[in-house]
Amino acid sequence: MAYSYEAPVSQSLFDRASVVTPGGVNSPVRAFRAVGGTPRFMVSGTGPYLTDADGREYVDLVCSWGPMILGHSHPEVIAAVQEAVSRGTSFGTPGEGEVALAEEIVARIEPVEQVRLVSSGTEATMSAIRLARGFTGRVKVVKFAGCYHGHVDALLAAAGSGLATFGLPDTPGVTGATAGDTVVLPYNDLDAVRAAFAAHPGEIACVITEASPGNMGVVPPAEGFNAGLKELCAADGALYISDEVMTGFRTSKAGWYGIDGVRPDLMTFGKVMGGGFPAAAFGGRADVMAHLAPAGPVYQAGTLSGNPVATAAGLAQLRLLDDAAYAKIDAVSAELRSLVGDAFTKEGVAHTVSSASNMFSVFFTDEPVRNYDDAKKQEAFRFTAFFHSMLEQGVYLPPSAFESWFVSTAHDERAVERIAAALPAAARAASEATA
Ligand code: PLP
Repeated sequence: MAYSYEAPVSQSLFDRASVVTPGGVNSPVRAFRAVGGTPRFMVSGTGPYLTDADGREYVDLVCSWGPMILGHSHPEVIAAVQEAVSRGTSFGTPGEGEVALAEEIVARIEPVEQVRLVSSGTEATMSAIRLARGFTGRVKVVKFAGCYHGHVDALLAAAGSGLATFGLPDTPGVTGATAGDTVVLPYNDLDAVRAAFAAHPGEIACVITEASPGNMGVVPPAEGFNAGLKELCAADGALYISDEVMTGFRTSKAGWYGIDGVRPDLMTFGKVMGGGFPAAAFGGRADVMAHLAPAGPVYQAGTLSGNPVATAAGLAQLRLLDDAAYAKIDAVSAELRSLVGDAFTKEGVAHTVSSASNMFSVFFTDEPVRNYDDAKKQEAFRFTAFFHSMLEQGVYLPPSAFESWFVSTAHDERAVERIAAALPAAARAASEATA
C-alpha cells in the first residue's frame, strides 16, 4: 500500500532508532508493522492532541494505551509532578505518597484490602501469580486465549495485544516447563473452565482473566462469565485474579469491579493509576497479601516501586477522576461509537463496534465476537486502509485491529468534530480495501 503523506522527520528518527533498537521501537505495539508505514515519533501532547516530530497534530485515540484518561499535560497532574520532582526523584525508603496512593486504591475498590505498588502491569500480574502459587501451594495457571497480561513468561501463551497484532501463537524463549504449567482456554466458555478443573483437580493455583478484555479488540465478558469463574475457583480452592491493568479506574471509578461487582481474590492495576508514569499495583484479600515479603515468605521487590514522582502523578490523576469525569468519558465514547458505526454502515462495510463501558474497538465483521477465534475472523486488511486514512487526516488510532481505542475527559467537541470529519473518507477507504 502506498501512502500519500510524508513524515520525513519521523522517518529519519525511525531510521536512527532501527540501528540501535530492535525494530526501532521499545514496545512492539508502537511499530506500524501490522499496518505498514513509519511510526510517528511524538514530541508533545496537550489535551486530546499529540504533535509529531514533523509538526503535525493528531486527535489521539490511543491515550498512551489507556493511562492518559485526563488527556495530555493535564495542568493539575503536571503541577503535582513538578512539586514532587522538586523534592527529589527517588529515595529507596518508604514515603507518604505511596501510602496515599495505596489508600486511594483501597478506598475505591472494595475487594482490595491491601495493595503492593510495582512499576508495570507486567510486574503486577507476574507477582500476583507468584503469590497465588505461594498461597495455594499449587502450580498451574489458567488463562484465556486473546487475553494479554503483560510479557510474563507463563502468560505469553496465546496472548492478545502485540501477539495478536503480529499473529504470534506464543514466543521463543519461554521454556516448555513454564508454558506447560499454563492452561489456555477459549474466552467466555465456562464449560471449558469446568473441564480444566475436572482434568486438574487440586492443581490449579489461579485463573487469571482480563476483567473485560481489551487486548483482542474489546470483547466483554458474557453475562455471568466472571461470576462463574469466581464460583469455580472458590469450589476448587483456586484464586480468581482479575487483571484490571486496562479497565481499572477507566471503566468506572472502581474499574470493571464497579460494573460487575464480582469479588476477585486478587486484582492487578496499572495504566491510569500511574498518571502517565510507571506505577502499577496488585492487591486483594488481606489473608492472601499477608503471604508477601516481608510479612510472609513469597518474595517480591522493586528499586523504584512506589516512586515518589510516579505516585504523585497517579494520585493527582485519580483524585480528579470523579463521577462527572466518568460521565464525560462515557458520553464521548458513546458519541464516537455511533459516529464510527454510522460511517461504516453508510459505506456498506461489515463491522461490529464492540464496547465495554467507555472502551471500544471495531471488528470488521458482522458476526458476533465472543472470543479470540471470532476476533481473528475479521477482515483486518480493512483496518489498515481505515487506519492510514484516519492518520492522514490527523486522527491517531492504535496501529492494530486488535486493540481498544481510548478517550479522555479532554476529548471535547472540537476533537470529536475532527474525528467525525475524517470518518467518511476513512470508511470509504475501508470499503474499497482488498486483502
Ligand atoms: N494486563 C493488561 C490487561 C494489559 O492491557 C497490559 C498492557 O497493555 C498489561 C497487563 C501489562 O502492562 P505493562 O505494559 O504496564 O507491563
